[in-house]
Amino acid sequence: MEQKVLSAMPKLGFGMMRLPVVEGGDIDMPALCQMVDTYMAAGLNYFDTAYPYHQGRSERAVKTALVDRYPRETFMLTTKLPAWQMKKIEDREAIFHEQLERTGAGYFDFYLLHAMEEGNNYEVYEKGGCFDWLKEKKAAGLIRHYGFSFHGSPELLEKVLDDHPDVDVVQIQLNYLDWENPVRRCGEQYEILRKRNIPILVMEPVKGGAMASFHPDVEKIFKAARPDASIASWALRFVASLPGIATVLSGMSTPEQMEDNLKTFRHFEPLTDEEKRLVEQVKKEVLNVPQIECTACRYCCDGCPMHINIPELFKAYNTSLLYPTDVRAKRYYNDMTAGGAGLASACLHCGQCEEMCPQHLNITSYLETIAQKFEA
Ligand code: SF4
Ligand code: SF4
Repeated sequence: MEQKVLSAMPKLGFGMMRLPVVEGGDIDMPALCQMVDTYMAAGLNYFDTAYPYHQGRSERAVKTALVDRYPRETFMLTTKLPAWQMKKIEDREAIFHEQLERTGAGYFDFYLLHAMEEGNNYEVYEKGGCFDWLKEKKAAGLIRHYGFSFHGSPELLEKVLDDHPDVDVVQIQLNYLDWENPVRRCGEQYEILRKRNIPILVMEPVKGGAMASFHPDVEKIFKAARPDASIASWALRFVASLPGIATVLSGMSTPEQMEDNLKTFRHFEPLTDEEKRLVEQVKKEVLNVPQIECTACRYCCDGCPMHINIPELFKAYNTSLLYPTDVRAKRYYNDMTAGGAGLASACLHCGQCEEMCPQHLNITSYLETIAQKFEA
């Protein structure tokens, strides 16, 4: 990718997967418009959406909150092609044109093959010649840069890049907790991209909020060094301090989260060597407590016939692991299953959720454990 584009990218990107919502689940447009204005006013201008986010409403919200309100050349917009929404390969044209219509953007600055991973998605993108299709779109001026977002193994990443060395950019999950995680292996993925000098878009830098708070005994390690800095800010500074990072996406859901992020990025300070040591110390402490590694992406939720709010039940369970004597986890579980709706024990083991989960979690087994813990 041209160096000048890379250097023009802001360190903080606005991820549009977890937008503010009103009761009933619709996007809170006044709140979103306010957040877009605050973000743009801070001199930042990179927005990341995708076809399925908020059941398609994220791309439409981009039009209302951004495209209709700002000159097109003042911001960069990314969206993605979803393999799992295509019944046949020709569907990609209809999806692409629907995305242009939804966003009103005219063109996409970045267009990614969504969730490249072993299995169906890789086969659809590869067998369907999607990289050649992306090149055609680029030549036609409908996209400026292309690449893929990635949820697979380092071995698959090497293979895809061997076959398609001219991708402009790759989006990966990256955070300090998962750097050596034997399932995520995100440190290995980072090194592969660095070796090939491919700019990196970072997703899940705070693991869907899971790294925004820890046990008070762990948090005090960070608080002693920077009393006014949020716990999430350490995770953002960690990834943004790494070489080769084009932008760090944060899925901001409230003006408060945005303000905290802007505090970190307005006058960005890379981690010092002493702060890197503190991050290692926190990592060691946190990893002593096993957790369900859900990033709250919600890909599993739409198709669940029992309307089980899987990520929220996982959050309740993880909280109970971190705070074993605290009643808040049980209360949270009760709130999420009010009136007996969507209980973990209602799971039919149909497996739909596990097919959708980019983290390859054994969801049904976790739900059994959760039912035993909270419903006994
Ligand atoms: S396996 Fe259970 S949780 Fe998953 S989609 Fe089916 S019913 Fe829902
Ligand atoms: S269980 Fe998997 S698909 Fe569902 S929200 Fe968590 S990470 Fe996403």
